[in-house]
Amino acid sequence: MALITDRERIDEALELLWVLNEDQQPDIDHFRKNSDDADTEALIETLLHEDLATIQSEEIRLTEKGHKAARGLIRRQRLAERLFTDVFEMPDDTVVNDACKMEHILSEELTESVCTFLGHPPTCPHDKPIPRGECCKKFKVEVTPVVTRLSEFEVGATGKITFIVPSDPYRISKLNSLGIAAGSVIKLVQKTPSFVFQIDETTVALDPEIAKEIYIRKIIP
Ligand SMILES: [Zn+2]
Ligand SMILES: [Zn+2]
Repeated sequence: MALITDRERIDEALELLWVLNEDQQPDIDHFRKNSDDADTEALIETLLHEDLATIQSEEIRLTEKGHKAARGLIRRQRLAERLFTDVFEMPDDTVVNDACKMEHILSEELTESVCTFLGHPPTCPHDKPIPRGECCKKFKVEVTPVVTRLSEFEVGATGKITFIVPSDPYRISKLNSLGIAAGSVIKLVQKTPSFVFQIDETTVALDPEIAKEIYIRKIIP
């Protein structure tokens, strides 16, 4: 059987393995069913040959080398999705397709800049985790991020909520009932002792801990 040399096809396979593992479906049948490659068997053979995956009792898993490569690809893809959605405000269906090409193009350096620019987002627009990078640990603030936490937002500024990462899953519906959801436009009125902002005609006060879980993009008037 001829091995595959096209890096993009191998990259797609690595990404699929990562997602299957995330969904806890690492069996080889799921891989065959979900891969849209023209030659799945040759692809599996290539993954094994390049020491990117192993097969054990019908389960296909990433090796350490494969995990590292897949992690980088997924990180770039999900950051690209955030970039397209939050900054360029592109519709969701176009986002997935274009983001799918970006992960093969983005360099490590550019990836860090994009991540920093977006405020080190923890999830993609589909709520899947974005693997952390070196930049997220350092949290350098040389570039003013487009998206910041509400806790770091300026008093008097207006912004649009881009995503909420609740530490408590029940919180999200409570916030939603107050009109606080992705897409809501708010104006920050005060930061201490609690966060007070205006949303439509209503004034809402929030605990500073919750303000850390709300990510917002500033609207420049
Ligand atoms: Zn996504
Ligand atoms: Zn980062």
